[in-house]
Amino acid sequence: MRTRPTPQTLAALRERLSKVLEPGQLRDDPETLEEFAQDESDTGKFLPDLVAFPANTSQVVEVVRACGSLDVPLTPVGARSGKSGGSLCLYGGLALCLSRMARIVSIQKENGVAVVEPGVITGELMKAVEAQGLFYPPDPNSLEFCSLGGNIAENAGGPRAFKYGVTRDYVLALEWVLPSGEVLRVGHQPIKGVAGYDLVGLFVGSEGTLGVATEITLQLLPLPTVVKTALICFASVAEAAKAVGAVLQAGILPRTLELLDDVSVKAIDGRGYDFPPRAKAALIVEVDGGHEEAVFAELVRVGEVCERAGAVDTAVAQSDAQREQLWAARRVVSRALRALKKFKISEDVAVPRAEIPRVIEELKAMGAELGLTVATYGHAGDGNLHANILYDSEAERPRVEEAIARMLKLTVKAGGTITGEHGVGYAKRDYLALEQAQGVITLQRELKRLMDPSGFFNPGKILPLVP
Ligand SMILES: Cc1cc2nc3c(=O)[nH]c(=O)nc-3n(C[C@H](O)[C@H](O)[C@H](O)COP(=O)(O)OP(=O)(O)OC[C@H]3O[C@@H](n4cnc5c(N)ncnc54)[C@H](O)[C@@H]3O)c2cc1C
Repeated sequence: MRTRPTPQTLAALRERLSKVLEPGQLRDDPETLEEFAQDESDTGKFLPDLVAFPANTSQVVEVVRACGSLDVPLTPVGARSGKSGGSLCLYGGLALCLSRMARIVSIQKENGVAVVEPGVITGELMKAVEAQGLFYPPDPNSLEFCSLGGNIAENAGGPRAFKYGVTRDYVLALEWVLPSGEVLRVGHQPIKGVAGYDLVGLFVGSEGTLGVATEITLQLLPLPTVVKTALICFASVAEAAKAVGAVLQAGILPRTLELLDDVSVKAIDGRGYDFPPRAKAALIVEVDGGHEEAVFAELVRVGEVCERAGAVDTAVAQSDAQREQLWAARRVVSRALRALKKFKISEDVAVPRAEIPRVIEELKAMGAELGLTVATYGHAGDGNLHANILYDSEAERPRVEEAIARMLKLTVKAGGTITGEHGVGYAKRDYLALEQAQGVITLQRELKRLMDPSGFFNPGKILPLVP
């Protein structure tokens, strides 16, 4: 069982790191420790003992080696927007914050590639490449504040994942510092490459448990020149959910199909976007391409299919400003729901698309039975539902725990996964065995042991604790 490092060990670590980091790159003042004690997961507060801010790969290597040799827990930290507690220092130790490694190293238009440091904010890379007519599609709704290192570690998705895929689909190569301190370059520079095991695939989504990404090579696409967005409203979430399937069965592939249920619509109504009074659920549909008429015709077809599925109102954004207004409303859902009740637990299950209507119905029924408000929204195109449980007091917590367990069980029973994009981290570690066979968990445990024999690297994440 891992414990917090002793004061003597921490003194030895400080002494060692003071030789490789500048003053200000190693902090242990109460404000900094407090700041790094939480992320966006609502899983509790875990104070680190030290926070390091390396500025380059060599410094990362020195910090990793020092923590490894003194067996001090080390946790990589991006922008702490994570929703599964991945960046929390469960056993104290050192938080390795990558925010000072935030350079866009290069954007190679001719190769369709960008090379970045892990601390770059996702939205900033997007703007930089779009200015050159290029496109980085993965668009987590936290894009204004999350980092690319965190996206890599969580294999982040977003509304556009439906058409364009998730972060993994865009990572060509990585510079990676292993728990041993060794620096590896894995992957390839061309868009295609299949030599050896897919180590990029192993590192992407490893949630900071197998090392640190210090440089990331990303694939870029040509920027679609025409994008059309519509808000399609329904009188019930069941109709909206069924419309998702209807659109796809009509052979249309929008780049987003975002679902909002009644609670979510109510929470964001009037926050920069006014929903029509009859809207009790909505889909945000976006289509893109290179030709104005073709893209518009596709949106019209989506509208017709949705109308047949029961849509009561359709509003097409008439300008980029109106599109942005709609997406700004979508991005605020999580925060708007948080404002409704004192506590909010956000689950991000994913189910096969055809199961969405039934799963949403079962979640609502479960909420009613347990006396809890359940709000569901999310990337319905790829079956990824953000099911939120809202509650007012700690006294309700046992019912909330029961609701979470029931939600995850019904997801797995429906052929789904306990996490579509937020990761297992600390929040869902104890539920992994619901979805994965013991042999699969054991294989992952062995991989972890191979790369981090002492287990000092982001301990307590992903894999259930051994009893
Ligand atoms: C309002 C809101 C909306 C969100 N919407 C989405 C969404 O649409 N899609 C989605 O996928 N997620 C979403 N998230 C969750 C979160 O933003 C993502 O998981 C994001 O990828 C985390 O990035 P971060 O930089 O904040 O990482 P952190 O939270 O700091 O860390 C996350 C994990 O990454 C590890 N890590 C960080 N940097 C590195 C590195 N350089 N090397 C190795 N490991 C590292 C950490 O150890 C930790 O395990 C949302 C969060 C919020 C608050």
